[in-house]
Amino acid sequence: MEFAVRTWSAGARLGSLQLAAGLQVETPGLLLLTRKGLPAFIPPDLLQNLHPDARACQVTPLHFLESPNATTVAKAGGLHKLVSLTGFGMVAVARDSLMDESNGEGSSKMGASFETSSGRRVVGPAKYMEVVNAFKPDLWVSLPDEVPSWVAEKRNRLSVDRTLQWLDQCLSLQPAEYGNRCLGVVVGSTSLDERIRSAEQTATRNVAGFSLGGFGLGEDAAQRAVQMEAVLTKLPKEKVRHVSGIGLPEEILQAVGAGIDVFDSIYPFMLTKGGYAMTFPLNMENSQRSFDSEPTGEELARSGGDSAKINLRSVAYRLDNAPLVIGCKCYTCRKHTRAYINHLINTHEMLAQTLLEIHNTYHYLEFFKAIRHSIKLDKFHDFRNWFTSTRQKSGTPSPSKSRQ
Ligand SMILES: [Zn+2]
Repeated sequence: MEFAVRTWSAGARLGSLQLAAGLQVETPGLLLLTRKGLPAFIPPDLLQNLHPDARACQVTPLHFLESPNATTVAKAGGLHKLVSLTGFGMVAVARDSLMDESNGEGSSKMGASFETSSGRRVVGPAKYMEVVNAFKPDLWVSLPDEVPSWVAEKRNRLSVDRTLQWLDQCLSLQPAEYGNRCLGVVVGSTSLDERIRSAEQTATRNVAGFSLGGFGLGEDAAQRAVQMEAVLTKLPKEKVRHVSGIGLPEEILQAVGAGIDVFDSIYPFMLTKGGYAMTFPLNMENSQRSFDSEPTGEELARSGGDSAKINLRSVAYRLDNAPLVIGCKCYTCRKHTRAYINHLINTHEMLAQTLLEIHNTYHYLEFFKAIRHSIKLDKFHDFRNWFTSTRQKSGTPSPSKSRQ
């Protein structure tokens, strides 16, 4: 694994992440969401040609505690082979843990409790790393003890200590022949002191990069910006930085502006599941022309949409022969109309989700591409201001009040 920062613009950085030979992800970039290693609604064959930047996936080790388990994945030759995604990058990211020091493995008697199909299950570093190692991932994130923003200071301190202990144990279980592919997790919730302590301590470990945990758990957007910037100043600039749990376009811009390189997000999946298509503007130069041809904010609101998305369940699209987004080059927009997708939804055809997910993933990846372009031109500040102002003009709520 290699990572290099090429240039900076208003706090944002343009870089490249080499996950394997011939497998390069431009940053800021996106890891595609998977469930048990499978991209949501999209078969691997379609994923190959979805977008040039659809190159790497996020996968959750905790989905492989039972069936298929680590032994099955190992016998298949790793996760890439099992899910037919050879040629794609795989990044193992664990979330949703509830630490429990009364159970678990190892001398620390500390484990993390996870929801599985057969009830809650407690695992420790040995079990977690058994699954991670079976994956043969291109990168993996150590297991964090993430806590919500409202927990007491004492519990928050414990979260930082536990996350560091887990990191040390997991690193000792990493096979030497794979090299260093671990991203150490920085936690600390809403406490600036604890976040800084977590960052400084994690930076002393032999890790390939960092993952900022504990975001997207109810914190205020303004507070998040302060915390991110405080943490990132304590981390070495030459190493890659990842964050989970944030996905609204304004949130992505905020994190990019703080210096985050890699994201994974449930945002496109949630829009698809709700019958929505992303429509937010991507091109600062042509924005006026595209806005002139689009419905007003009031018209969108009446059909359940807003300036970021349209609701394909709405009767407003029953006879609409336009593509989801005029000018979009994704497979769905080149081949199909809003009316067709509205009809698929109304007849409960699963093809509706496939076509929406193709567009939503493509549009989201184009958003990251536009961000990178603005950094390259040293116009990230202008791009962010333009994007935010166009959304505010249409009455879109701020990220802190609006969740996907
Ligand atoms: Zn499209």
